[in-house]
Amino acid sequence: MRKLFEFYCTECKKYFDVKLNMSLNGNYRIHCPMCEHIHFRKLLNGEITDSRFPENHESALIEDIKPMKGSCRDFAQEKPEIDNFLYTRWRERLDVVEA
Ligand SMILES: [Zn+2]
Repeated sequence: MRKLFEFYCTECKKYFDVKLNMSLNGNYRIHCPMCEHIHFRKLLNGEITDSRFPENHESALIEDIKPMKGSCRDFAQEKPEIDNFLYTRWRERLDVVEA
């Protein structure tokens, strides 16, 4: 199952979408499509964990992910003009999480 995550790059201040295969536990390197800044993420049991791994830990690397430049934007995904409850449901439906 693939899940969509929204990433924020602190280097170039852009947001971009990344689709991750949640069935593969392990380490991922996500390259910012704008500035090539690398974001390290670890997947465990269908969730992105808080743990980071060192760049030289090549053996544990599952995949290098290079999202399309076209998915870059200056702002977080626009939220619809609805109340917070519906907004939360909408986020859940899209499987968008802060990362
Ligand atoms: Zn960047």
